[in-house]
Amino acid sequence: MKSSMLSGKTALVTGSTSGIGLGMARSLAQEGANIVFNGFGDAQHIEKLRTELAHEFGVQTAYHNADMSKPAEIEAMMQFASDKFGGVDVLVNNAGIQHVATIEDFPVEKWDAIIAINLTSAFHTARLALPGMKQKNWGRIINLASVHGLVGSAQKSAYVAAKHGLVGFTKVTALETAGTGVTCNAICPGWVLTPLVQKQVDDRAARDGISNEEAKKALLSEKQPSGEFVTPEELGALAVFLCSPAGNQVRGVAWNMDGGWAAQ
Ligand code: NAD
Repeated sequence: MKSSMLSGKTALVTGSTSGIGLGMARSLAQEGANIVFNGFGDAQHIEKLRTELAHEFGVQTAYHNADMSKPAEIEAMMQFASDKFGGVDVLVNNAGIQHVATIEDFPVEKWDAIIAINLTSAFHTARLALPGMKQKNWGRIINLASVHGLVGSAQKSAYVAAKHGLVGFTKVTALETAGTGVTCNAICPGWVLTPLVQKQVDDRAARDGISNEEAKKALLSEKQPSGEFVTPEELGALAVFLCSPAGNQVRGVAWNMDGGWAAQ
């Protein structure tokens, strides 16, 4: 059903060509927001996602291909959103990558890329979006952190460091926007079955000589007490709540949706 809570507003979702970001874009478009897509992928596939969403929810959509590890490209993307829609009202910093290796074996260039994409990009998008949000006295910044922003995990040093950093950056952004109509919060999911996690499922199945289904069960039973994957739709519903008037005083929170992972 078409809703208009965010009608006339524009949401920029980084890394929205797949997985959680795509789910976020769908949920925000369902509430009437125009969407700026970003992320990598096949051009035809992205064009299809963009036009389908526009048609389904009667919103405007656009795509900008910025590499979130490159500040100049981020700046061009924010300028694009400004030229096309007059700025960004809802900023979802979602683009992310990870790599699994011990500290001694961690390639330095992978560390740099993970910190740049998962953490530093959120500083660049926020610093460019905040003046317009403050001027309108309304804005929402939602940082896709992770349960790994709250707890550690061996062999994920860069990812855990970046996500903990993102939770810290969320708190500072919330403090610097206190007293304005701009809020900033982090969402910290547990396992969500997206391409990012499917790779870990595949690696696990290959390593242990088990089926894909068995590998999924193994990952869940080790960490996620609910025994079920979190879905992009559930995360999208949380983002919609944060954008609603009921979310006005929710500020600087790292909100886990992790099937009980961090409660252990
Ligand atoms: P995904 O791999 O499906 O999607 C990642 C998106 O980021 C894609 O659109 C990809 O194109 C984009 N991206 C990657 N590098 C980029 C770059 N340099 N520039 C621009 N875009 C880039 O992964 P996902 O699982 O949907 O992850 C989305 C976010 O959620 C990430 O920040 C991830 O850390 C976080 N997260 C995921 C899970 C999970 O279980 N899947 C759990 C906790 C947190």
